[in-house]
Amino acid sequence: MSVSHKKDVYLVIGGSGFLGRHIVEQLKDRGDNVSVFDIVQRTEDVPFYSGDISDQAQVATALRRSGTTCIIHTASPPAALNDPALYWKVNVDGTKAVIAAAVECGVRKLVYTSSAGVVFNGADLTDVDERLPPPDQPMDAYNESKAKAEEAVIEANGKGNLLTTALRPAGIFGPGDRQMMAGLYRVFEDGKTHFQIGDNNNLFDWTYVGNVAYAHLLAADKLETPPPAPPLASLKSGKSEIEK
Ligand code: NAD
Repeated sequence: MSVSHKKDVYLVIGGSGFLGRHIVEQLKDRGDNVSVFDIVQRTEDVPFYSGDISDQAQVATALRRSGTTCIIHTASPPAALNDPALYWKVNVDGTKAVIAAAVECGVRKLVYTSSAGVVFNGADLTDVDERLPPPDQPMDAYNESKAKAEEAVIEANGKGNLLTTALRPAGIFGPGDRQMMAGLYRVFEDGKTHFQIGDNNNLFDWTYVGNVAYAHLLAADKLETPPPAPPLASLKSGKSEIEK
């Protein structure tokens, strides 16, 4: 299903990654102008800008050269590394550098891939939604850095020309995954399948990567300045702008 949208020019940051690649494919499929910014290049089918998001000047150069109006920022080191400094450098300082470059270059939209983990502290979460704040004691450095990055993105809404939003996927599966299936397979190969956490009734959310990618396109399409409120006089007369 396609949704009508104004033609933006997209830069997918982290576009060489698992989710980023699916976002690039979907943008290409609907005929949009899309480039990739990443520290590694995996394909040559779209314009590629090599750079690190913690360097504002590198991001700004890519934004200017590509003429970007909408950034989709999916970059992050993989979860479960024992490297808090790297998470802080890329996810917190890097995301702030992306925001600063976006404001500097007059970019209109920034969609950030956060994570459901930003509200997880190890205890069960049932029927919660985005009103739940991050826990006082974060689960780990990865989730803490994702929460700080998300906070910076939301605070940047309205800065300069910029409108922002953040999505919180849970586990992502599908073609191109290099983390989830590889991890499960390693557990199997290492003969660790006899371990059980909990009573075997634990639930966890998984979403197909194509659906997570599509959610990013929809978020970008909907990220528009709300129309101005109708003049007070028309409200008093009980007539809307559309009726007149
Ligand atoms: P991935 O590792 O496949 O892709 C991340 C991309 O970011 C890679 O191409 C990597 O080279 C790039 N990158 C890393 N550091 C960079 C830097 N300093 N500058 C520029 N590019 C850099 O990861 P993924 O699974 O596609 O995850 C994408 C996003 O979704 C991440 O932000 C992650 O936190 C979030 N997320 C993933 C899952 C999941 O299950 N995979 C779940 C929830 C949230």
